[in-house]
Amino acid sequence: MAIATINPATGQTVDTFKAFAPAEIDARIARAAEAFTEYRRTTFAQRAEWMRAAAGKVDAASDEIAKIMTLEMGKPIKQAAAEAAKCAAAMRFYADNAEKFLADTQFDPQSVSAGKAYIRWQPIGPVLAIMPWNFPFWQVVRFAAPALMAGNVCLLKHASNVPKTALRLQDVFLDAGFPPDAFQTLLVGSDAIEQILTDARVVAVTLTGSEAAGRSVAAIAGREIKKSVLELGGSDPFIVMPSADLAKAAEVATTARCQNNGQSCIAAKRFIVHAEVMAQFQDLFVENMSALRVGDPADDRTDVGPLATEQGRRDIEEQIEDAVGKGATVLCGGKRADGAGWFYHPTVITGITREMRMYGEEVFGPVAQLYPVADIEEAIRLANDTSFGLGSNAWTGDPGEQRRFISELDAGQVFVNGMTTSYPALPFGGVKSSGYGRELADLGIREFCNAKTVWIG
Ligand code: NDP
Repeated sequence: MAIATINPATGQTVDTFKAFAPAEIDARIARAAEAFTEYRRTTFAQRAEWMRAAAGKVDAASDEIAKIMTLEMGKPIKQAAAEAAKCAAAMRFYADNAEKFLADTQFDPQSVSAGKAYIRWQPIGPVLAIMPWNFPFWQVVRFAAPALMAGNVCLLKHASNVPKTALRLQDVFLDAGFPPDAFQTLLVGSDAIEQILTDARVVAVTLTGSEAAGRSVAAIAGREIKKSVLELGGSDPFIVMPSADLAKAAEVATTARCQNNGQSCIAAKRFIVHAEVMAQFQDLFVENMSALRVGDPADDRTDVGPLATEQGRRDIEEQIEDAVGKGATVLCGGKRADGAGWFYHPTVITGITREMRMYGEEVFGPVAQLYPVADIEEAIRLANDTSFGLGSNAWTGDPGEQRRFISELDAGQVFVNGMTTSYPALPFGGVKSSGYGRELADLGIREFCNAKTVWIG
């Protein structure tokens, strides 16, 4: 894939970039390794000062950063500005909390032969981050803020369609005062991953992206015996039971499906609704989905912009064609918008069966699948009948049902009566083919640390 900025609202190529040659990659890794020897010795206070400065830089340039994201991947400009603000908040969160999260973990001397024993959480070195285009600032910051606060240095390989965002991120950290090579953007395609990850100076990798990319990167990391964290796709269930506030559920369902033009790993994708309230929920949901304003993402009245890539729209069209060909019914949308750009109308589709591709695959766009169920048993069974396990959503006012969803949904996260979302203070990640490891919170910062056991007699 060429490294290029292509405006998804017009299909026009805005800028192209030359990928680094192998010698340049080698030089960048050398700089990262060299930077780590000094950077690891900096204090939490110093790193927190730089991190707060970075947050200030993001806030100050929020409009400009939002425009770059919208230009490169088509998210509505309001959502892009909100993403920039969330990045600044996460930076401040780790500036405030990293030292506490990584304080020595003490042990009772009685349990260790009367020695003084503790865990010292230490940085491990240059970590490679392979990131996707869908939340192009947030995905990177959610890794980089804790990694830098822990004392690691970062090598970013961003998605090939967001090079300007990738370079802007590098500037944020540089302008904030971090040492020049503490955070580097590598302009490379995925064909360079083998070289980077097999280099002994690169000690670990984190990837957010598709299952295919995850398998490939984890295989290399496994062979090299290097730590990896994977945040992959999802096909999150959104379950609505009779006791739910249906109007609220239908409103949140619409946002949960169409936010970011439907391209979020934790978007609700399968709407599993109790038969008793299906007709009512369906009417409300279809009405909300049909009312969304599709159009120019740079216009702040737009709800849904274009898909980020032409291939992304083709994938959705093929999944819909497959389902309709096998008997599914489109209740609204189900077609691309006229004109230039990779727009697709918000869609609700029902009558999905196991034979259809979208039953088992992730649908990465504004397409909601609606499934009726007879009771909670069927709801849980259907929700778990997927290879994914990232987020999940349950709407019910019944405490007994809430307990069952919390304990029986196979997912890294369960949100009850509210939208699945990420907070810097809460761990984020999945089970099954959605990946492993956790980002954010205290668990996230410890992923790329050496938990060094110390014993002193
Ligand atoms: P990809 O997996 O194709 O791309 C993500 C990143 O991985 C890009 O930087 C890409 O580089 C790189 N990449 C792709 N193939 C390989 C490979 N074989 N080896 C190493 N790196 C590779 O995903 P999409 O761009 O299609 O993004 C959408 C997918 O990502 C969806 O499935 C979505 O659910 C998932 N995702 C998961 C998230 C989560 O938090 N769990 C968040 C966001 C998305 P290049 O662009 O150069 O190909």
